[in-house]
Amino acid sequence: MSGVLVTGGGGFLGSHLCERLLQENKDVICVDNFSTGSARNVAPLLENPSFRLLQHDITMPLHLEADEIYNLACPASPKHYQINPVLTTKTNILGAINVLDLAHRLKVKVLQASTSEVYGDPHTHPQPENYWGNVNPIGARACYDEGKRCAETLFFDYARQYDVPIKVVRIFNTYGPRMQPDDGRVVANFIVQALRNQNITIYGDGRQTRSFCYVDDLIEGLVGMMATPADVHGPVNIGNPVEISVRELGELVIELTGASSKLTFHPLPTDDPRQRRPDISRAYELLSWSPSMALREGLAKTIDYFEGLLKSDQYQVLRGLSPAG
Ligand code: NAD
Ligand code: UDP
Repeated sequence: MSGVLVTGGGGFLGSHLCERLLQENKDVICVDNFSTGSARNVAPLLENPSFRLLQHDITMPLHLEADEIYNLACPASPKHYQINPVLTTKTNILGAINVLDLAHRLKVKVLQASTSEVYGDPHTHPQPENYWGNVNPIGARACYDEGKRCAETLFFDYARQYDVPIKVVRIFNTYGPRMQPDDGRVVANFIVQALRNQNITIYGDGRQTRSFCYVDDLIEGLVGMMATPADVHGPVNIGNPVEISVRELGELVIELTGASSKLTFHPLPTDDPRQRRPDISRAYELLSWSPSMALREGLAKTIDYFEGLLKSDQYQVLRGLSPAG
């Protein structure tokens, strides 16, 4: 079997990527162990004969044919990647080795979904790709941050040592439909809390900042990077440079949902980065890419999605509740 391989294709970003590739009439092979992804994300794609789904853990070698590889498999929310940190590191390192060995054998392009977390709690603001970062190597986030950093090292060493055509994209906080409602990430948490008129959980004083990119813009950046010539490796930041504090985000979600929720303040998790904003000049020069979705508009679409999901029979059944419950 051949086609475009998407590891982590059952997840939030992966399922949007699979959908986008199918729209381009590509054959798609989705590989996922469904540890944080959901069958719900890819169920509609199963009807398409160009889509194939393989339940597999990327810490184990991949024996298949592919024309291009996107490596997205990895738990992405701090709540999920800290449940089994050793497995998170293994997924990053062994997973990278397995996709790189496959790309080497097949002589195909391989794209790594890296992260703004490689910059840690940054001392340079906004973050350009030539900033080396400020990461605590022994902290609770290290399994993810250092795992992703080492995966980048492996990608660049496979390029230098074996001439593998690698692509590295550093993804900044991305949101949109198909985030898991219990994912723990801030946009999903705030929207679900607001839709239930529950209090909004601000960690710390809420002055820490993030820059939120809508999923469609992000996918455009990934596909654009894959289309670059074989010798273009990156890394390239993909994210929306409009920066907002977590507190302002909470207030915006309350406004857009019309909720009666109040902001409540809770301890800040350790090593939580204080600020984050991508410098996207390289993405613009290389890919002519910049995001087009404004935060208000993207949040409104995401709120619509969660509203439908929370009311759906399927979701109530999954939670063990009756549709009316
Ligand atoms: P997600 O958790 O929704 O998706 C990850 C997918 O990978 C899930 O379907 C999960 O089941 C699968 N997976 C995890 N471990 C696996 C393994 N060992 N073998 C096979 N499948 C496995 O997260 P997402 O937000 O869609 O993130 C996708 C990728 O993008 C991740 O690599 C993440 O690090 C990266 N990223 C995402 C963001 C973001 O804001 N969404 C930001 C930076 C980087
Ligand atoms: N956050 C928060 N309340 C929540 C979830 C997250 O205040 O219910 C904060 C979190 O402490 C961080 C920011 O929102 O400062 C973004 O968190 P997320 O887990 O979405 O992503 P990351 O920290 O990996 O950027």
